[in-house]
Order: sequence, then C-alpha cells, then structure tokens
Amino acid sequence: MSNTNCTNSESAAPVPSDFIRDIVAADLVAGKHQHIITRFPPEPNGYLHIGHAKSICLNFGIALQFNGLCNIRMDDTNPTKEEVEYVESIQADVRWLIAGWADQVLTMKAAGDQSGAGLPVARNVDKALEPFYASDYFQQLFDYAVLLIKAGHAYICDLTPEETERFRGSPDHPGQNSPFRNRSVEENLQLFDRMRAGEFPDGTRTLRAKIDMTSPNIWLRDPVLYRIRHAEHHHTGSQWCIYPMYDFAHCLSDSIEGISHSICTLEFEVHRPLYDWILEKLPVKQPRPRQFEFARLSLGYTVMSKRKLLQLVQEKLVTGWDDPRMPTISGLRRRGVPAAALRNFCFSIGVTKYNGLTDVALLEYAIREELNRQAQRRLGVLQPIRVVVTNYPEGQVEELDAINNPEDPAAGTRKVPFSRELFIDRDDFMETPPPKYFRLRPGGEVRLKYAYIIKCDEVVKDAAGQVVELRCSADLGSKTGGPTSARKIKGTIHWVSAPHAIEAEVRLYDRLFTVPEPDADGDFKSNLNPHSLERVMARLEPSLARAEAGTCYQLERLAYLTLDAKDSQPGKPVFNRTITLKDTWAKEHHKG
Ligand code: ATP
Ligand code: MG
Repeated sequence: MSNTNCTNSESAAPVPSDFIRDIVAADLVAGKHQHIITRFPPEPNGYLHIGHAKSICLNFGIALQFNGLCNIRMDDTNPTKEEVEYVESIQADVRWLIAGWADQVLTMKAAGDQSGAGLPVARNVDKALEPFYASDYFQQLFDYAVLLIKAGHAYICDLTPEETERFRGSPDHPGQNSPFRNRSVEENLQLFDRMRAGEFPDGTRTLRAKIDMTSPNIWLRDPVLYRIRHAEHHHTGSQWCIYPMYDFAHCLSDSIEGISHSICTLEFEVHRPLYDWILEKLPVKQPRPRQFEFARLSLGYTVMSKRKLLQLVQEKLVTGWDDPRMPTISGLRRRGVPAAALRNFCFSIGVTKYNGLTDVALLEYAIREELNRQAQRRLGVLQPIRVVVTNYPEGQVEELDAINNPEDPAAGTRKVPFSRELFIDRDDFMETPPPKYFRLRPGGEVRLKYAYIIKCDEVVKDAAGQVVELRCSADLGSKTGGPTSARKIKGTIHWVSAPHAIEAEVRLYDRLFTVPEPDADGDFKSNLNPHSLERVMARLEPSLARAEAGTCYQLERLAYLTLDAKDSQPGKPVFNRTITLKDTWAKEHHKG
C-alpha cells in the first residue's frame, strides 16, 4: 500500500486531482489562505445518500490532502422539516464513511476555539466528527442582519409571499420595487425587533436585502433574508420565530467557521453573487470564504433527491431509509458495501463542472474490487438440492481445509465438514445439459471444491417430476494429497454438508428501478422494479453461524453476503446479498 491513510483491511485511495484541488493549491501558493478549511453542510431533513458521499469525500479529501480541516455543519435553518433522527443518522453515516481514513482528516470547533483556529489539531475521530450547527449562529446572524439594516442594505417588506413572487419578475422581465423598500432605518429596526418578538403571524413580513430588482440575476432581486415561522426547532426549541434563509445563513456560517473554500453543487452557481454581496457588505473576518461549484452525482437506476427518497419511505415502497436497495449511505452499509468501496467510487468518478449520468456499473465495479480483496470466502448454496454420496461411510465426518481468501494468504484457512449427505445448487445440475456444460449431469463427473470428485449415478424425482436427490459416488482418492487428486475434471462446484449446514434467509436484491433514469418522465414510482427483492432459504457452511454484522463474505461462485443485524434473530440469521460476483444485469435484461 502506498498510502497510509487507512486501516490495513481497506484499500488505499488514490490521490485525486481536479479543478477544485487545483484552485486550492494555487490559493495556498498565492497566500490567499494560510489554512484550508472546508465543510460538509447537510440539511438534517433526511438521510444521507451516495451523492452526499461524493461531497464528503471531496471536502474531507481536500482537508486531508492540504493538511487542513473539514467541518460537518448541520445546515438547520428550516425548523419544519428537520429532525433529531436525521441529525443522528448523518453523524453515524459520516463516521462510518470516513472512519479509518479520518484520523488525519480532522475538524475543529473553529468558532469557539480561536486558539488553534485553522490549525490541524490531533483529535480522536469522535471529537473530529462533532457537528457544528448553523442554528448555533442564530444570534450572530441576527446581529449581522441588524448591521445590514443599519447600513441601509436591508428592509422589512410587508408583501405576501405571492406578491413577492409576482414583483420579482422573470429571467427576461425585470422585477418591480416593493412599496416598502424605502422604509427608514429606524422603522426597519423596530419592525425587525417586533418580528423577532413574535408579534406577527407567519408570512406577513420578511427581511429583504436591498440590491437591484432589475438585475438579470433573479437571486439579486432583493432576496428574502429572514422569514417568520412560528415553529419548534429541533436544536433551538422555541427560542426563535424568525429564521434566516439559506443564502443569508450559509455564507455567514462559512465565515464564522473560517471556511476557506465553500464547495457546493452547480445549482448554486447563480447564488454566488449573493454569497459575495452579503460578505462584502458586512464586517466579516478576512480572508473571506469563497464558493466553488461542481457537478452533483446522478447515478443510473437511482433517484437521489431526499424528497423522493422520503416518498419511497413514507409510502412504504421500501422498508425504511436503510433498506438495502436505497442509495442512502445507511442502506448501502446495511447491504454490505464497504466504506472503502464507496470512497474509491467517489474518487474514481472525479469532480467536474459537467452534469451527467454516472453508470451504476462503476459503483458495482468499485464494490466488487474492494470485496474481492477483503472478503473471506465461504461455501453455501442458495437453491439446495440434496446429494447422497453412496460410497461414503454413514456417520463419517471429515474436516477439510478451505482457503479463506486467495487474494490474501494471511487470511489463512478454515475447516469445513464433509459427510455422506450434501447440498449443491440446483443450477449446478442439469439432466439434459447443453454443450460445454461442465457441471453435474447424469453419468457425469464434477469436482466438489476442496473435496472429492463425484459422479452422478442416479436422479431421484418426486411425483411431480421434480429432481429431489442425486445419488452419486465419490472417487475417494481424489481429494488433496490423494492418489487420484491430479485427475483433470472440467467443472468445480460448491457444496455444503447437509447435517452441518445452517439454514438462513438470503435476500437477493436487484436494482430498485428498471430504467437508467427513473424520473425522466417525472413519475419515478412507475419505474420501480417489482423484482428488486427475492428471498431464498439457503444452506450455508456452519462457520457462518458466527458471521459478524458489518463483515462481508464471498459465497464462492455466487455472491457477496453480509449479515443483516436488524432482521436476524437468534438461530434465524438473515443475510443480504451485497452484490453478485459478476455483472449479470446486462445479460438478463437486454436479451436479443
Ligand atoms: P437533495 O437535493 O438530495 O435533497 P440537498 O442538496 O438538498 O440534497 P443537502 O443536505 O443540502 O442536500 O446537501 C449537503 C451537501 O451535499 C451540499 O453541499 C450538497 O451540495 C451536497 N450534495 C447533495 N447532493 C449531492 C449530489 N447528488 N452530488 C454531490 N453532492 C451533493
Ligand atoms: Mg439542500
């Protein structure tokens, strides 16, 4: 490993390069900033998704690379949509994504901790991931608003929301000044105080910046800075009944925390002049933060906006935010996707200014790469069919050596029991196989992985003609070290010993949507894949009774699996299929 920023069990991330990193590097050389501080600012109105992972990897990655810091900030200025559950899930998800990578990516309480402002301070991950809250700055933001009013840059407007909208004009029609635009500073200050004191109902008044109602940029047409909302806030309770708008709160929160580079997605490019305008008009710390934009991640066969994900949850189209089919970080984690795979995916797609659809195959590739490297191998069958080895003594059990991970000799070996009664997968037997079928067939031979060569002597069927048992004989000299072990046999299949195997429900997941752009027609729910979850009762080698949640295993020749900690019960394990070993989607869905 060339990079030491991760634990031994995870692969090293490459050092990426992109236009934002180029800007950061140039700013350091030019002396624009002494210290690089980025931030990841989620609004706690939903769970984080893989698009957020891109932003986390970018912001924490830059901090790491330039010996800087990255703050997590709850962008919590909208009391009605935000909840503590979301705050907690965000913390857990960021921690999971960057732990093992994060000990060097430190954040700090820049706001309260002026002694070390901007300097990387060694802290443990817990401390590093303690979030900031924009709502902690409500008093400072209010004070800044008062300064804007005093300087004649803001006024209280009594237009209704509908009138405000109408007066704003459109991109090719200039707006119209509000009749309240020229109130005196005294009157504005008084009204702002009374707004804060709760004297007016929701929607009756706003604080607006006084910029230019004819600006070609609609965001500069006297944008609303504060609105009245008599609502309980998850963090500040009933302390406030006026709340700052995103554009006012964001640039000032960045400034308060000493952020150097405020990185957001392209939709905010048009907000940038307002970001700069507010900071220019106020006596903020120098150097001021600056905003930079990159293209958001859009992933094939996925919807990404929190609003749509919330709909899937509320309408019970999935089992929750952490349903393993969801593109949320918690869903991917529950499904068994390693954090390193997600990070490597984020690095591999790069950072650009062009919006485009990322092929979900890139994510799947990153998952398989990482799991192939780190996952221990196990034997198990998903669709069991019984095999009796007729010449193997009844009651005899052998413990055979099986390799844990051919990619990692240090992972060693384990013992798997072999006995007279086995299960193999239904797919590994065909009564009348096509040419080049090298698995088991009547009269044919196949090698059982780590064990003997067997020959199918008899096919037993039930009344309905279904194959229920294969009676086979083993070449008892053919196991490793035996006299006939070198015999060449074309096919090798997996198996488990029937009396020793554990039974487990395995959930086979497929893509949640059937088309690459589920929301292209604005009706993403009509594109849900009805076969996105199939359950089978599998038989797994006994060591998987001790499978640990958070660890992925490769069922040889089949798939990667991870224990579902939430739905498993003592003696009744449930496993999630993280991903198949090969990409079978193209084959199955684009026939002909
Ligand atoms: P959504 O539109 O999914 O609801 P959002 O942008 O409203 O997302 P926030 O909680 O405001 O979500 O986002 C936090 C940070 O994550 C922001 O800096 C935002 O730019 C970034 N982010 C959100 N979605 C994506 C995405 N798809 N790709 C890259 N970055 C994203
Ligand atoms: Mg947002």
